[in-house]
Amino acid sequence: MKDDISRNIRALYGQIADACEAYNRDTDDITVVAVSKQHSAAALKTAVAAGIHNIGESRIQEAEPKLTEVGHIATFHMVGHLQTNKVKKAVQLFDVIQSVDSLKLAEEISHQAGLVDRTIECLIEVNCSGESQKYGVAPEACLELVKKVNGLPHIELTGLMTIGPFTDDEEQVRSAFAACRDLFKQGQDLVGREFDVLSMGMSDDFAEAIAEGSTMVRIGTSIFGSRED
Ligand SMILES: *Cc1c(COP(=O)(O)O)cnc(C)c1O
Repeated sequence: MKDDISRNIRALYGQIADACEAYNRDTDDITVVAVSKQHSAAALKTAVAAGIHNIGESRIQEAEPKLTEVGHIATFHMVGHLQTNKVKKAVQLFDVIQSVDSLKLAEEISHQAGLVDRTIECLIEVNCSGESQKYGVAPEACLELVKKVNGLPHIELTGLMTIGPFTDDEEQVRSAFAACRDLFKQGQDLVGREFDVLSMGMSDDFAEAIAEGSTMVRIGTSIFGSRED
């Protein structure tokens, strides 16, 4: 397992370098978040030992024992949907919350972070594909939410996150990512230079995301292997 994970990470870096070459991007501008959901604490530790600095998890219940066991060996990102009643735990466990999609959720994050005297880095999740089963704020409501969340005291708003459409149609994938990049640029005009994270691209679509300006890819399967879901 250990060897597989290290080998997968090396192969992934190669593929990211190829995509950067093809689309005129700088590899230094792409951060890899290894999404270890449904994989063990040992697998997570192996990825960090192999050079990964950012780890993503999507469920509080699963992440709590795992992240507690391994200790703070990487920057921890919450990438899954977050319920208001789990925010207190999320603020204790994570450095970055990528799935902020309502003002109510953002206010609770700011409140809970304030109670423990912290500022938590957040991204706004946008539903750029328009698929109804997805979480995320609608594109037309995104910038209003960016403005409001940016005004909260214990949140450092640094960018946007999106999940690409569930399709093999490359045109469709790229146009959803391009729409998110346009919103990101407009958000940057509102917030300033510190708004510099565009989290898009997963195992199946990171090359398209890099083509459209992603600065952060969230990779599960290509690093850790397949999952139940
Ligand atoms: C699971 C997950 C990923 C990783 O997906 P893979 O297709 O396994 O790379 C990325 N982002 C989010 C939000 C996820 O839930």
